[in-house]
Amino acid sequence: MSYEDNNIFAKILRGEIPCKKIYEDNFVLAFYDINPQKKIHALVIPKGKYIDLDDFALKASSEEMVGLFKGINLVAKKLGISTEVGNGYRALTNISSHGGQEVPHLHFHLFGGERVGKMVE
Ligand code: AMP
Repeated sequence: MSYEDNNIFAKILRGEIPCKKIYEDNFVLAFYDINPQKKIHALVIPKGKYIDLDDFALKASSEEMVGLFKGINLVAKKLGISTEVGNGYRALTNISSHGGQEVPHLHFHLFGGERVGKMVE
């Protein structure tokens, strides 16, 4: 499967559709989920064209990998939910059909601001 250039997050990255931006650097863009499932629900996406975590693990550079994980921590800190400044959160990434992935650009959901609850249904 190849990367679909017209997925919604690719359009957000290109500035073709708006987002409620939280943070941006050379490696990641973070914005609020349009349909929040918890008090805080953010999305962190790499700037590179990766379909999901498997694709990222196979193809991303070490720099991009560090950039994504550092980015998640920076965003969590900015939102006041990282363990340095808050009470923690859940980071989750869905992978393909059994994972329930809807948008085919790798993204981590950050849920927090309250107890997140049961891990899977
Ligand atoms: P997933 O099922 O893991 O692919 O999650 C996709 C997420 O993207 C869902 O939580 C949607 O609410 C969210 N989403 C879809 N379109 C947008 C958008 N334009 N801006 C922000 N979040 C979006």
